[in-house]
Amino acid sequence: MKPLVKATHEQYLKAIELYHQGGANAVHYFANQEGITSWNYCEGCNEETPDCKYNCCLVCGLARRPS
Ligand SMILES: [Zn+2]
Repeated sequence: MKPLVKATHEQYLKAIELYHQGGANAVHYFANQEGITSWNYCEGCNEETPDCKYNCCLVCGLARRPS
């Protein structure tokens, strides 16, 4: 099984830019393009979103609820 990939700091910065340009869908698309495979439910977005290395949502930046 492959380890789950989270967004790096650079990808996080890019995601913020993309979110302002194209919204959540642009970030989702970007994450798939970049091969980010770690996605979890976000209470802020109310859907599954990519994870970033800081253990927060790549779309809205909300911290993940500890599981
Ligand atoms: Zn979110």
